[in-house]
Amino acid sequence: MRRAIEEAGRQGFAALVVAPSPDLAYLCGYGPMPLERPTLLVLRPGVDTLMLVPHLEIPLAAASPGGRVFQLVGWADGDDPYDAAARLLPTGGRIGVGDRMWAAHLMGLQAAVPDATFEPASAVLGRLRAVKDDDELVALRRAGRAADETFRQILGGRFQGRREEEIAADLGDLLVANGHTRAAFTIVASGPNAASPHHEPGGRTILPKDAVVMDFGGELAGYFSDTTRTVVVGEAPEGFREVYELVHEAQEAAFRAVRPSIAAGEVDAAARDIITAAGYGDLFIHRTGHGIGLEVHEPPYLVRGNTAELSPGCTFSIEPGIYVEGRFGVRIEDIVAVTPEGAERLNRSTRELQVVD
Ligand code: ZN
Ligand code: ZN
Ligand code: ZN
Repeated sequence: MRRAIEEAGRQGFAALVVAPSPDLAYLCGYGPMPLERPTLLVLRPGVDTLMLVPHLEIPLAAASPGGRVFQLVGWADGDDPYDAAARLLPTGGRIGVGDRMWAAHLMGLQAAVPDATFEPASAVLGRLRAVKDDDELVALRRAGRAADETFRQILGGRFQGRREEEIAADLGDLLVANGHTRAAFTIVASGPNAASPHHEPGGRTILPKDAVVMDFGGELAGYFSDTTRTVVVGEAPEGFREVYELVHEAQEAAFRAVRPSIAAGEVDAAARDIITAAGYGDLFIHRTGHGIGLEVHEPPYLVRGNTAELSPGCTFSIEPGIYVEGRFGVRIEDIVAVTPEGAERLNRSTRELQVVD
């Protein structure tokens, strides 16, 4: 919270307002459900930190780690919570609002503080959250290892003749068995479905010569894993191995490009240039990666044009892919962390093509 206030001041914000969200959990360890009754943490340079809380949740908020630091201001059902919030806010200037605040709450604040301008607080909080401390890196490494073990174990099972949704259920069970608190997503895309990056696993039965893209992750100690491996069932379809090697090479090139002070967009370019030079540029239909931490997708985004510089402690995915409509797709995704010297992979499972039964 102190660092957020300092950075807010540097950027000319008069206040930051944060509702229940990963931002709030990050700032003060308080993680209530976002609800229609607003809970608002107010951070202001030069002013004591306050949190506006529905009256019935004061004991919960007081017991949270942040409860030792901020002062609680309750509001009772029947009061106007936005009027109560306005008494804690500056009457004008720039107010940063957490990106995950519900629109209804932001509109209530806008009406109650008409002379202020409201902007996304991610300019401040995204930058802070992007750089992980040692405890966060420990959690992300553990999540990565649990995902790696999940992949190793799924390789031992059968693919042919089973439905995508069955493999997805196995992945979910393995993520938990290997230490995740819960599975967050399990994409299994086989055959022509593999050409759709966010395919919803369904009833399709996996056949010989299918490529199968598996993109899975879960939550461990509040932090997420997210890895993708592409396998082939028996003999590879025509042209598949060439595409696989290209994606593999692009993934390595992006990893080797990572070092402190490089722009996020340059890491995207390192992967994209290889795929484009081989003539597949039009089939790499998404950015190269996204930050990861308390959310699966968060800054920094490895996307064309992003000049934000990476620094030690930044964690993000590197996940180039090539998608051949109607035939197959290939994606290889690891989480990496920027180190003072270069980069560290948080996923270590094999990236060589695995042939499964
Ligand atoms: Zn995705
Ligand atoms: Zn993924
Ligand atoms: Zn990802």
